[in-house]
Amino acid sequence: MRIPVFAGNWKLNKKSAEACELARKLDQLLGDVTDAEIIIAPSFTVLSKVCETLSGSRIFLAGQNCFWMEEGAFTGEISPGMLADSGCNYVIIGHSERRQYFSETDETINLKVINALKSGLKVILCIGETLQERESNETFPVLERQTRNALQGIPTEDTQRIIMAYEPVWAIGTGKTATDEQAQEAHSFIRKLLSEIFTARESDKIRILYGGSVKPENIMGLMSQSDIDGALVGGASLSADSFAAIVRNGK
Ligand code: PEP
Repeated sequence: MRIPVFAGNWKLNKKSAEACELARKLDQLLGDVTDAEIIIAPSFTVLSKVCETLSGSRIFLAGQNCFWMEEGAFTGEISPGMLADSGCNYVIIGHSERRQYFSETDETINLKVINALKSGLKVILCIGETLQERESNETFPVLERQTRNALQGIPTEDTQRIIMAYEPVWAIGTGKTATDEQAQEAHSFIRKLLSEIFTARESDKIRILYGGSVKPENIMGLMSQSDIDGALVGGASLSADSFAAIVRNGK
């Protein structure tokens, strides 16, 4: 059985007072949830404060990105070990906004995945096609290329520290969600691919999240699909009430 995961990606939002307030409210609303894993990804600068706010809570922290080197002359970067030191158990890698605005490639994403796992973090690995790719029937080849490249060299024993997130780029922040069937079709393709890269047994246990304009109103339909194991939520995770409703409606 795969335990559902609901992860909130706060992106470039919430300075410390607001971030701690949101974390506190989420803990109040969701502190009793034991049958789902809940993760929030605030910005780097507030991680330690949010970690203190969540002391004793069941809510896990994630970084929104990391570099692949642990230390050295890399001005402005944050290492996986620094994320762990700030209270993170997870890191989001390969988000489409990082691919699009910060020139991340399959190769750098692979380096990040390898080194984040080495540092003891768990990884939420994002993949997804653009609208143009979907319209030219390239969805599956794109998902295959992104997945195979990102997971190159990852030993089978590390697979359970990876969560996949299918995020069609055309659905992120646009209000357009993939239909339940479109999402299931992609998730089932990804699960089959994971069984080829690793084993069917491992693939069966890997959680695959859907991301792209998830809201309290559409999470139930998505979660009713057999290969959808949770959600990576952007905009709707910035309100405690809507994120809590997504968790409660979806789990
Ligand atoms: C995201 O950024 O991962 C995301 C899914 O955003 P939104 O929920 O706002 O579409």
